[in-house]
Amino acid sequence: MFERVALIGLGLIGSSLSHAMRREGLCRHIAGHAKTAKTRDKAVELGLVDSIHATAKDAVAGADLVILCVPVGANAAVAAEIGPHIAPGAIVTDVGSVKAAVIRDVTPHLPQGVHFVPAHPVAGTEHTGPDSGFAELFDDRWCILTPPAGTNADAVARLKAFWEACGSHVEVMDADHHDLVLAITSHIPHLIAYNIVATAAHLETVTESEVIKFAAGGFRDFTRIAASDPVMWRDVFLNNKQAVLEMLARFNEDLTALQRAIRYGDGEMLLELFTRTRAIRRGIIEAGQETPAPDFGRRGPKAPDGAE
Ligand code: NAP
Repeated sequence: MFERVALIGLGLIGSSLSHAMRREGLCRHIAGHAKTAKTRDKAVELGLVDSIHATAKDAVAGADLVILCVPVGANAAVAAEIGPHIAPGAIVTDVGSVKAAVIRDVTPHLPQGVHFVPAHPVAGTEHTGPDSGFAELFDDRWCILTPPAGTNADAVARLKAFWEACGSHVEVMDADHHDLVLAITSHIPHLIAYNIVATAAHLETVTESEVIKFAAGGFRDFTRIAASDPVMWRDVFLNNKQAVLEMLARFNEDLTALQRAIRYGDGEMLLELFTRTRAIRRGIIEAGQETPAPDFGRRGPKAPDGAE
């Protein structure tokens, strides 16, 4: 599909892309770059790349596809460095969880004749680094492309085919719309998880050991999300400020309504809402985006310690 792909950033997403490209035979050569020598060495050891480069500009030389797999806040500096070294006609894309800010940061640095097609694979785990990737990460997950108006249609079609070959379903949408949708489906849930775990840690009456001991009551599932990469998520919130604040205002209104229902003993309201939310989970399972296995499929139906 491509002769030479440059992966800038070799963490969870970059390494998973390497595995997926190798599995499907999508390119002849993978050129890689990461910020630290430690990650670059690891990438070579794991066979993620065919060539490794100490600078991003060397990695992109001669590439017909460049994929930026760095934290959202790092894109501007990387784009400024690689811009003058990208081959004419090449496709540049990214994997950032926020899209309008990435378009704002990257586009000014790209020369005429290079096609920028922003992308966001809606797939991930709480793990980071070059050894956390796996080929199946994108299988049956969605990848959202947000090409600005006027983007070369052939480049969009080629990138769509690339993500489909990596196992994903592809949807094309406007960057602002993407940022609003992801604010509620991904960014706010992460913020809530970070907050609830931090609140529990602050509670003076609950000792650390009790929080850990009784974690199976629901807390544990939040801690998985709250273990996500701090740099990545700092950048998401700083770069999707407006949409997150808008959705957070809606969330706070609904939370206040719940608070009132509890205060005034409105069981009917609670029951109605909890029944509706249950149906949403069923919908996600039916759409193949979650497993119906008990405990998220992490354990067998009979957990040895009787965990809930
Ligand atoms: P990660 O595992 O932390 O990897 C980030 C990589 O970027 C590392 O290889 C790091 O190099 C490199 N890097 C950081 N700053 C750099 C710079 N200035 N120049 C060159 N390389 C740099 O992160 P990730 O989870 O793969 O996330 C990467 C991107 O994917 C982010 O934009 C994120 O929004 C998006 N994304 C993440 C998920 C998810 O669930 N994790 C899902 C979808 C999309 P070193 O290791 O040498 O520091």
